[in-house]
Amino acid sequence: MTVSEREVRVLRPRRAAPADAVRPTRAEVNLGALRANLRTLRRYADGAAVWAVLKADGYGHGAPAVARTLERAGVNGFCVALFEEGVELRDAGIRVPILVMGGYYGGVHREMALRGMVPVVYDLAQVEEFARLVRSGVIEGPVRVHLKVDTGMARLGVTMRELPQIVTSIAQLKEVRVEGLMSHFASADLLESTDTERQLALFEEARALLRRGGVEPALCHVANSAGVLRKVGTLDAVRPGIALFGVSPFAHTDSGPQFQQAMRVRTEIIAIRDVPAGERIGYGGSYTTTAPSVIATVAMGYADGLPRALSNRGHMLVRGRRAPIVGAVSMDMTMLDVTTIGRVSVRDEVVVLGAQEGPQGRDFISAAEVAAHVGTIAYEVLTSISRRVPRFYREP
Ligand SMILES: *Cc1c(COP(=O)(O)O)cnc(C)c1O
Repeated sequence: MTVSEREVRVLRPRRAAPADAVRPTRAEVNLGALRANLRTLRRYADGAAVWAVLKADGYGHGAPAVARTLERAGVNGFCVALFEEGVELRDAGIRVPILVMGGYYGGVHREMALRGMVPVVYDLAQVEEFARLVRSGVIEGPVRVHLKVDTGMARLGVTMRELPQIVTSIAQLKEVRVEGLMSHFASADLLESTDTERQLALFEEARALLRRGGVEPALCHVANSAGVLRKVGTLDAVRPGIALFGVSPFAHTDSGPQFQQAMRVRTEIIAIRDVPAGERIGYGGSYTTTAPSVIATVAMGYADGLPRALSNRGHMLVRGRRAPIVGAVSMDMTMLDVTTIGRVSVRDEVVVLGAQEGPQGRDFISAAEVAAHVGTIAYEVLTSISRRVPRFYREP
């Protein structure tokens, strides 16, 4: 048996399920927000097909549930980074096309074909391997592939220099059909950059080159969320990820009120103490109270994906108001200064991400806000919420 004929077993780390939830720390995903964000993106997409990007477990929201919701709402396809992620979606009953965009690890060609997953290819050896497997009867041809060209990111994709030769070779392989041509924007989120226009021009050159070589992909696609929102490169299909979750792809601007952050992360207060002025809080005593204070301990720490870099930075919501994080974030717990928030008790809800309405008001913590505090991007904040935190799905 060759590697491609072997049954492929997929490693799937188990995530905490709602039924396992004893601790009150959980991520709530608003499925209505996902549908609303999809509708908004459709309006921006100008008739292009929408292929939702659900890599990294649907940006931490739980890919199977997100996929089922979006499929029912009429999404045209899904993109994942890994073959394993595609398997998870097919096992969840997803029927629309699944494009496997990420690195290429071989050995799974047959499995991919059987499960109706479409590989992205970026060198000739990959295409030739598919053709060989069709000729030897392991998989049925023609195999659909999407060809990726590198138009300025220097990550994955055939370079413009290699392209003519690859097109000549592919045109002769009747076992493989190039259904799609794609590229990826490096800087569409940087509003002042002209890189995106340059990348689009190169993409058009690549498309023309294919056409002259007798290869006519039916689906050309380049736009991520930032591209869609700027309406650049909305060709036959678009590939939004982050905006579907209601989070802006732009580092310093909002994507606007028409998007709703789908994820809300909440926990509870598990202890409260009154401390005098001059008391040091948490590991290393990195915070010292300057006045008599009320300190609340909450049941979420860095092992849950709360960045440790939030130590002495940022806020959580208690009774509808912001309470500053004090001291070092520990593995399972974090401390808040709730001195100015009256009548706080054990078991009060604490919101780490998303909105809270309480007796003291209403406030909201965005993934972008947390990202700014710790010097990263909202994508990393979302995908870091760990598998110890069960995901609960809500209809609004
Ligand atoms: C992640 C990714 C996307 C989606 O990007 P967002 O900024 O989340 O919209 C699209 N295409 C490729 C190739 C990607 O890797």
